[in-house]
Amino acid sequence: MEIRVNLGERSYDIVITSDDAAGIGPFARRRCPGAKALIVADEIVGPRHGASLVGALQTAGFEVHGIDLPSGESQKSLTTASRLYDMLLDMQADRKTLMVALGGGVVGDLAGFVAATYSRGLPLLMVPTTLLAMVDSAIGGKVGVNHPRAKNLIGAFHQPIGVWIDTALLATLPDREFRSGLAEIVKYGVILDPELFAYLETNADAILQRQYQAIRHIVTRCCRLKAGVVEQDEREEKGVRVVLNYGHTFAHAFETVGGYGAWLHGEAVAAGMVCAARVAERRGLVAPDVVERQRVLLTRFGLPTAPQRWPLAELLAVMHSDKKSVSGRLRLVLPRRLGEVALFDEVPENDVRFTLEQSLGEAATRE
Ligand code: NAD
Repeated sequence: MEIRVNLGERSYDIVITSDDAAGIGPFARRRCPGAKALIVADEIVGPRHGASLVGALQTAGFEVHGIDLPSGESQKSLTTASRLYDMLLDMQADRKTLMVALGGGVVGDLAGFVAATYSRGLPLLMVPTTLLAMVDSAIGGKVGVNHPRAKNLIGAFHQPIGVWIDTALLATLPDREFRSGLAEIVKYGVILDPELFAYLETNADAILQRQYQAIRHIVTRCCRLKAGVVEQDEREEKGVRVVLNYGHTFAHAFETVGGYGAWLHGEAVAAGMVCAARVAERRGLVAPDVVERQRVLLTRFGLPTAPQRWPLAELLAVMHSDKKSVSGRLRLVLPRRLGEVALFDEVPENDVRFTLEQSLGEAATRE
């Protein structure tokens, strides 16, 4: 299965396959004439999935170098980027040296950032290993690292030369990470694709059991949807890509107030989507069943649908300071129906406050 991302001279293919470690060698070679490759992974993914990738790239004629970084968001830093620049210097990389990101969004964003900046740009091959990276972060060219005071502040747009998705790599992904990735997939259903949403409802068991056909179906569908959005708005300038932020303004507040690490990103997005849908219901934009279907599906996937008992004032303060909030008013992506969302510029704080109070009340009742 191949999906083309059409971006003129920056166009590339996404391959969705299963258990095809060898295939990546010719895939990379057709797209990169370089002599050397640097595989960036972390210490969890590298030992599990690195060897077959090394073999495939060597067979395709690359001199392969590799590094397994510690796992975790803290590696998305200029310090680690600098470590990778040193490695590229030591291996005498040139502008054709292939950067290979084998991992989740952390490794993809970091290795992508280094690929964007070293020698003003190296070819980048994305080999995503989390569900989130397969359906979201590996596609679209947004790469970057965190500043100690702001997440994803330092970054670039740098499209990969290809994305190689082998869904068999998901077999080793911890359950919580897998479920967290499902939140982003539910998001695609709500923002763009009611059929995908219905498929998720009907096939929730098969998906949770990671059955091959079901995973292939949802990954393929999401890659197509993300590719379509990126094609229309490559550099986030036309307001099309903003739909991908559905649930994220709330999620950002939950992650910040809860402390990074309390919730995985997808867990925060899940609760954030239900909050956004409730705001939409309160404003008369959607029928109650649009909220309820999301809540039921996310619960089925073992995801939270309301924030924990975090202080309301702090949540609101973060939401106001979010870059999606213009001059103090709340700017939110809200649903109009399943499969359609829009950006609303001036959502009254009262509606958000009421929704958060209601959701926090639910959290209190659960305890
Ligand atoms: P992650 O990269 O931290 O991976 C999660 C954990 O799963 C890690 O411990 C990792 O070692 C482990 N892991 C990964 N694949 C595995 C596998 N196959 N088997 C066993 N363990 C595995 O987390 P993530 O959720 O993939 O990515 C989150 C990051 O993505 C954040 O930094 C976020 O900002 C970024 N992101 C970027 C974009 C973008 O467009 N660039 C979009 C969304 C998110």
